[in-house]
Amino acid sequence: MERLSLRAPAKVNLRLEVLGKRPDDYHEIKTWMYPISLADELTVVREASAGISLACSHPGLPVKEENLAYRAAALFLKEHALAGGVRIKLTKRIPVAAGLGGGSSDAATVLKAMDILWQTQMPPEALQEMGAALGSDVPFFIVGKGAVMGGRGERVMSVLPPLTAWLVLVNPGVPLSTQQVYQQGKWGLTKQGGETKIPKPPQDLKKMGDFLRNDLERPARELLPIIGEIKEKLHAAGAHGVLMAGSGPTVFGFCATEAEAQQAAREATRAKGWLSFVAHTLTEA
Ligand code: ATP
Repeated sequence: MERLSLRAPAKVNLRLEVLGKRPDDYHEIKTWMYPISLADELTVVREASAGISLACSHPGLPVKEENLAYRAAALFLKEHALAGGVRIKLTKRIPVAAGLGGGSSDAATVLKAMDILWQTQMPPEALQEMGAALGSDVPFFIVGKGAVMGGRGERVMSVLPPLTAWLVLVNPGVPLSTQQVYQQGKWGLTKQGGETKIPKPPQDLKKMGDFLRNDLERPARELLPIIGEIKEKLHAAGAHGVLMAGSGPTVFGFCATEAEAQQAAREATRAKGWLSFVAHTLTEA
């Protein structure tokens, strides 16, 4: 096989707990994540001649080392000391710097595709380790299903049961830097010990609101108050549990059906110029 097309899904964090700042300046977190059907599309082609070429549909994104898809390909070729090269076509559908993990998912998908194309048969743990060198969220996308992640987000703590739910997502069209949000939070040093049990998300949507939590929401709202406005609109549109996604600024809400999610998307974005998406959680990426 020389060519492979794969979808790179976005994610939502149903819970994101910041446990504190670490001596290495990263933050220790515990987060419950699911991949969703909103996805970028990647075609990866194995080439006999050396070099990496990336074509990306998003004009604002770099196509060299600064792009996580490119960086993933470079790392894979280097780690396996491969002589050939790779051609990548990336169609972006996930909004950029939106808290939905798009760049990390692209990187994980390139690693997965190259492992298949070069028949390197890497165990999932080895792929996750390679991914962790690219970004904290990359190992989650290697897992590709609901999971609780710890450390700086790169450590798989537990795989979650499948969750079937419709979502409405609203993005104000303004990027928000993850680093800036963490800085705004001003957390103390990581507490030792702490809560060890891992609650599972409820299957009953009416109970979802009590489960949702995102410690990054307060600092993100201080930087971008429009996040609060989007939350109000989604509540008013009838979504069951509403939360900011990751480091924001995208906000998502749970809906009972696809039709309800479509309706909420229309109501929430009316005359605001916000972007909206309807998606569902994935049981397997
Ligand atoms: P994170 O929390 O990891 O920042 P995010 O979902 O908020 O994730 P991304 O869409 O992954 O944000 O983009 C974060 C930054 O990474 C952007 O500023 C962008 O310039 C850079 N980037 C590099 N490669 C990509 C890519 N393939 N897709 C999206 N962004 C990328």
